[in-house]
Parts: sequence; structure tokens; C-alpha cells
Amino acid sequence: MEKDIMPEITNIKQQDTFTLPSRGLLYKPEDGIPEAITLRRMTTAEEKLRYRSDDNTQVTKDLLNACIVSQVPVDCGKLKLSDANFLLFKLRVLSLLTDKYKVTVTCPHCGAQFIHEIHLSDVPVDYLTDDIKDKLKVTLPISKQTIDLDVPNLNKLIKLGETLEEFFDRFPNVNRQEKLLTETNLIYIDKVNGKTLLAEEKEDYINSMDIVDFKTLRKAINKLSADYGLSQDLKTLCPKCKSEVTHGLPITYELFNPSDEDI
Ligand SMILES: [Zn+2]
Repeated sequence: MEKDIMPEITNIKQQDTFTLPSRGLLYKPEDGIPEAITLRRMTTAEEKLRYRSDDNTQVTKDLLNACIVSQVPVDCGKLKLSDANFLLFKLRVLSLLTDKYKVTVTCPHCGAQFIHEIHLSDVPVDYLTDDIKDKLKVTLPISKQTIDLDVPNLNKLIKLGETLEEFFDRFPNVNRQEKLLTETNLIYIDKVNGKTLLAEEKEDYINSMDIVDFKTLRKAINKLSADYGLSQDLKTLCPKCKSEVTHGLPITYELFNPSDEDI
């Protein structure tokens, strides 16, 4: 493109740097993920990326890869989901210049459905603390085995989605919920008693676990994902029954299509 028709924008912030909620504590050196990441504003090219795949995780990876500003190459597929989602919300505010976000909430007390409009810039960020290393090791109460956990990155989640899709195509009568319960847990298992297991071994291992051990494992895994990122603990009052309602921050169509803006 000729230089004199390239748009030159100087009146708004073009890029911004964000410390990851994980503070880099979940990454190995070979992941090459820095503690802070700089993003630039989206252009039409990235807007188009959003329509290229049906898989949201793939879209997240592509968008962040396109908008990351770094001297050394960074593979956003190596990002953990909570860090990636945090960056996605930051990219939205940086690009669309609005931090208003509407969340549809169902009141657990009276069942009323309403919209809570929040300001993304006001949502607290939970940063990981150094004790995360302890939470990545679980000792099972019954078998006394130790499990090393690993929080899956976007690449792993994309791969899991593909594997599951293939599996359900081949075995359409399999109970989906059961399969998902197994797979979404074993993706977190790195080692059992210091030993790395093959995928099939992991599945057998999970299926033969004592129920109390399994529940302990689940609890440890749930804790890992809730521990960092944009707060999933947002509060508002139900307009109908006036009770306090707590809700999370789901990623919806609203993320890049704010419904009250003319952009
Ligand atoms: Zn209510």
C-alpha cells in the first residue's frame, strides 16, 4: 500500500502492556511466555479472523497472535486459558474504546432474568500468588498417591476439542457428559507419582480412581482455574427481588459487538 493512503492514527492509545493474571508462574521457560504482554489495537484484518473458525479457543489464539507486540516471537497457543481470556477483554477495551459489557444474569432467588451492565476496567483482576506451586501438587487421601497438575494451554484445549469431535463422530452413542468429565480432568494431570502417563493410561487411571480421591482431584483442579484472571465473583442486586446476586464474566457475542454502541 502506498504510504500516503495508510491511515495515520495518533489521537488514541495504539498499544498497551498488561501483566498476566498468572504473573508467569504457570509457564515453563520453554513456553516463552513473558510476565507482561503488549497488545496493539485490532484492525479489520483481525475482525475478519473472528469469523474464520467455529472454535472459540482457536479464534482467541489467532486474535492474540495477530495483536501481540513483541521483539521475540510469542506463541499465544502456549497461554493458559485464564490469561488468554484476560487479554481478550483487554484487547476489546483497547480496540473498541469502550469498556461497557452486558452480562445476562438469572437470579438464583426468584428466577428473574436481567442484564447487568458492567465496566470492564472496574472488574478486579485476581493475580496468582507464589503458593500456586503447592496447589499444583495433590496428595490423594485414600491411595496416598501424588499427582502433579498442569493447567492446559490454548493449544492443548484446541487439540482436546478436535479429539472429542472425532471421537463423538466415530462413537455417536457414547454418553457425552461422561466422556467430557473424564477428558476435562485428565488434561490437567501431568504426572502420577512422578511418572508421565500416556493418554490411554491416564484414562484408565482416572476410571479406576477411588471416588474420594477423584473428588479431591476435581476440587484441586477447580481451584486452579478459579484462582486467577478477571474476577468471576461480580455482584449486583436483582431488580425484581432486590437480593444480592453473584455472577461470573462469560465471553459472549457482546465482547466484540457491544450492543449499545454504534461502532
Ligand atoms: Zn431475584
